Amino acid sequence: MTQKQLINKLHRKTMTSPCRFKVGVICYDKRGNLLGIAYNTPRFSKKGGGLHAEMMALQKWGVKIKSMTLLRFSKTGKLLPIHPCKNCRKVLTKLNIRVTV
Ligand SMILES: [Zn+2]
Repeated sequence: MTQKQLINKLHRKTMTSPCRFKVGVICYDKRGNLLGIAYNTPRFSKKGGGLHAEMMALQKWGVKIKSMTLLRFSKTGKLLPIHPCKNCRKVLTKLNIRVTV
C-alpha cells in the first residue's frame, strides 16, 4: 500500500470517529516496515477527552514502533498540521519513537 492509499484509508476511518479532532498515525517498525494505522477514539470513562492516536498505536504495537507519522484531518478531509501533545511527546521520547508530521 502506498502512503497515499494509507492516508485515504486513515481518513475514511477517522471520519467514523465522533472526535472533534480527527487524528491518525501510521506506524513503522525499525526496518521501516508498516505496522499499521491507528486513530483517536473518544474516551467514555472520562468527559472531554479521548485516547490519542499515538497512545492507541502504543497499545497495539508497543515497543515494536520505531517511528510514526502523525496526521490530522479537517472536517472536510483536508490534511492539517499537528504535533503530539505534551503527554504523548513525553512517552514517545522516552520510548525513542521518531514522530514525523
Ligand atoms: Zn496526545
